[in-house]
Amino acid sequence: MDSKNQTVKTVMLEELKESIAGCTACKLSTTRKNIVFGEGNPDARVMFIGEGPGKDEDIQGRPFVGRAGILLTAIIEKGMKLRRSDVYIGNVVKCRPTVNLEGTRDRPPEDDEKEACGGYLKKQISIIRPEVIITLGNPATRFLLNTKQGITKMRGTWYTYEGIPVMPTFHPSYILRNGGDSSPLKKLVWEDIKKVLEYLEKGIRDAEDVDNENNETIKLTTRHNNDTVQGSLF
Ligand code: SF4
Repeated sequence: MDSKNQTVKTVMLEELKESIAGCTACKLSTTRKNIVFGEGNPDARVMFIGEGPGKDEDIQGRPFVGRAGILLTAIIEKGMKLRRSDVYIGNVVKCRPTVNLEGTRDRPPEDDEKEACGGYLKKQISIIRPEVIITLGNPATRFLLNTKQGITKMRGTWYTYEGIPVMPTFHPSYILRNGGDSSPLKKLVWEDIKKVLEYLEKGIRDAEDVDNENNETIKLTTRHNNDTVQGSLF
């Protein structure tokens, strides 16, 4: 790791974090306990992006620390054989969205909230410049790739954001809601994660890659060789 690079990125992220302290740019500011900026290695090779904080995250001010966070950590540590602190984890919106702003039931962020907050995420990405972004679920995938397509269709296929390869996959909460440990979705997520590991190890992207900005489909090298990837089903 380039420590100079990491230091510069750390400072830039801290400055960004300080600049949004006390943010009231959208209605989520009225009910949040804490702004959940994101955390991890400022020089991470892999960045995970979810939709927004839930109850536990709101209380602790940290991303993915509830049940879904435990599963995401398992994906990173058991599956990818990385430490959670090796990657960077963030969300599209930094404050917890709840139904009717009542502070009880979580909901996906609304368009005006994503519009108000999404620039912070994009700034984080531009500072970190990870080698791969993994979007978790519909809201994060649709926001970053500026699409209305659904995650079931998009997962497992490479896309790009500002030249950075993006792999959409299911949100850990979706796995939990659909059987948890025994969910067949786990296998699908693992298939997607294996493609990321293969890319990180060998620079191979399979299938096709859609450049969303230019709406072009770029054919890339197709090579299925997942057996050689380090890691295991989480
Ligand atoms: S969600 Fe984002 S834009 Fe809205 S108040 Fe929180 S930090 Fe500001």
